[in-house]
Parts: sequence; structure tokens; C-alpha cells
Amino acid sequence: MGVRVCSRCLYSENHPLGIYIDDNWLCSGCKVHEEKDTLNWPEREQKLKSILSEYKNKNLNNYDCIIPVSGARDSYFIVDKIKNVYGMNPLLVTYNAQYNTERGIRNLVYLRTHFDCDIFTLTVNPKSIKQITRATLRRLGSLYWHVLAGQTVFPVQVAARLKIPLIIWGAHQGIDQVGMYSHLDEVEMTRKYRKEHDLMGLEAEDLISDEDQVFAKDIYQFQYPDNHDLANVGVRGIYLNNYIRWDTKAQHEKMITKYHYESHPQTRTFDTYNDVDSFVYSDLHDYIKNLKWGYGKVTDHVNREIRLKRLSRDQGEELVNQYQNIEPKFNRQFMKWLGVTDNSLNFILDQHRNPEIWHRDGNWKWTKEDKYIQPFKSLVEANRLAVSQECEFNVSKNKQPDYIDSEYTLMSKGWV
Ligand SMILES: [Zn+2]
Repeated sequence: MGVRVCSRCLYSENHPLGIYIDDNWLCSGCKVHEEKDTLNWPEREQKLKSILSEYKNKNLNNYDCIIPVSGARDSYFIVDKIKNVYGMNPLLVTYNAQYNTERGIRNLVYLRTHFDCDIFTLTVNPKSIKQITRATLRRLGSLYWHVLAGQTVFPVQVAARLKIPLIIWGAHQGIDQVGMYSHLDEVEMTRKYRKEHDLMGLEAEDLISDEDQVFAKDIYQFQYPDNHDLANVGVRGIYLNNYIRWDTKAQHEKMITKYHYESHPQTRTFDTYNDVDSFVYSDLHDYIKNLKWGYGKVTDHVNREIRLKRLSRDQGEELVNQYQNIEPKFNRQFMKWLGVTDNSLNFILDQHRNPEIWHRDGNWKWTKEDKYIQPFKSLVEANRLAVSQECEFNVSKNKQPDYIDSEYTLMSKGWV
């Protein structure tokens, strides 16, 4: 049985978030994305304003809302909108991913300076993080579980503890990538979505095991608060892409011009804006995505740009071919941090290769099976969107070009 590929973008039916391809070979992601050109966005923004007004200046001794931030990914845009455009008083909250680049650290430092906001940072002790990462690498083939878990839970914990009910997130990936919901559904954050998609089905408490040497004390910071505590405060998390026409490229470009947000080339994708704060995300983490799912982040980025009418399907295919098989550059840095050898990392990664996609040939080399069914040319033609803009991602000026990354000076890494 083959796997069908969308006739507009390059997603196949094999997507971790689940995707549906209809009889016209158009995927659910492409269909919902069309709402970006049909919805009445000024009206949607009014709706956002009325939600925000319910929380504004409710309690003069407290913040109006929480914004989860990092040294990348639309953090500048979200804070600029919420604080400067809508006049809210946000508390910024950040989970220290520990795979930080010096550029990401600088972006975060400048973020709090430019926007004059208070920020709460959680840096979990390095020993627990390493134990957890060894366990998730072994069980899920994921070195990123702790980051996804921490980023999605720390803001919720702070909301419950400090009694700040409103959390404002950027884009909901399920909507933007696969059209899991319509923008009009106005879905909000849930414990269930976090577990099933962000955490790949594995909650913090499921990690406790003698075999992996992960104990209750190690996972405490990753546990979702009690439903009762959340209900008492009335905690809710909204996604801005339900109310603002989301275009991450245009948003980052505004922030580069306005606040000199730093962008940087990435190992395995052409998007130089979104993930500049991490040395594993567009590198080893993305390489593993290709082993598990048969595609990498570059496909996500290409599809987004096809839908926003900045790339044709052919140009997209070229970019995927150019980036998808690039070897990660920062394995050594990661292995040194975790204390594992080349051989043991490769052994673990091979365990997580998808056997339906990867096969070993006679020379013991891994090859990828092409099991995709491409759409007929006529359908591609019928569902094509006319390209109306350039798709150039810029690299902005490095604020400290002579800086050499040092494991001793980057305290924000959380470890030395
Ligand atoms: Zn599609």
C-alpha cells in the first residue's frame, strides 16, 4: 500500500499530527489554510481584543496575562502585539531548553530589554535533564521531549501558582500544519493535546523507571498541574493564530527591522528565522524526524511557504532535496553534553528508524523506500496557488560577530 501525497503541498498521509487527503488529493492542512485568505481578520482581531479586555487591569497587583517566550519563534512578535499594540501587562515565562545558541540567548536578553517586561525562567538541574533525555532517547528516539514538556507546562504552572488565568500562545501547530481544526473553532490549550502530540504520548510520570534511573524528583517540574488548581484560577490558553492571520516569515521580518531580532542559517532548512535559539532543533532533532517519519522540518517550511504563495510546488521539491539529507553538524556537542559515544548514539537512532521507510541494503547502508503515490499532474495543476511573492529568508546582523561560544560564559545554558 502506498501513501498518497497532497497535490498542493508536499505532505503525505504519513504525518505525526494526522492529516486527511480528500478525493481531489488536497490535504486538510491546505484546505484549512485557505481560511487565511477568506476569513474576516479585522473582525477576528476584534474578538481577540474583547477576550483580552476581560483580563486587562483586573487586578492591579498582578499581571494581565502570561506569554511563553524563547530566544526565537515569534516571541518578539507576540510580546510586541500583546504589550505595545493591545496595552496588556504580560509576565514573560521561559523554559531554559539548555540547547541554547549564543544568538538565542542574546535574542532573549534583548527581548526583555526592548519590551521592558518581567521574566520568569525555569532552569531544571542538568542531572535530571540528562537522565530524562537518556530515557526519552531510548524509549522515543527523542532528545527534545524535555524541551517540549517544559515549554508547554512551565507557563501553566506559573499561571496556577501566581493566579494569572490567561496564557497567550502563538500558532497552534495542529491548525497551521495539518488543519486539525478550523480557525473558527478557536481551540484552546488542553492537557490532552499536550500529551498526545507535544509529548508523543508519554507524560512525565510515565518516565519514572529504575532502568532509566529516572525518579519522581526528576520529573516534578514537568508535571501538569492538578485540574482542580487550574479550574480554581480559571486558567485558559489561547492561540493567536485563531485571531491574527499568521505569517511567521512576515512577522519575523517586521521584528528584524523594528528590534534587530537576530536570524541565522540553519543546518537542515532554509528558514533562518524560527529556530535560531537551539543547536539541536534544526540539526540532530530534525535528522531524527527524518528517520522516524521520512521527512524533515524543511518539508514543513516548504509547505507553509507554498500555502502562503511564496513557493511553487516544484521549487519546494528542490528545497526538500537540497536540505533533507544533510547530516547534522552538532552531534559532537550533544554527545559531549549527554556523555554518550558515536556508536551508542547511532545504535539508539537505528532502533528508531521507521522500518516501513528505511531498509538496509546489501552493503549494510540505510536506504529510503519511495512508497509515496504522487498526484496526477492535472490535479497538481487544478490545485495550484499562483506564487505572488518572493521567498527570501534573510540573515540579520550578528550583534557580536567576534564572539566565540564558550561553555563557561554561557550561564544561560544552565550547565557548564
Ligand atoms: Zn496539502
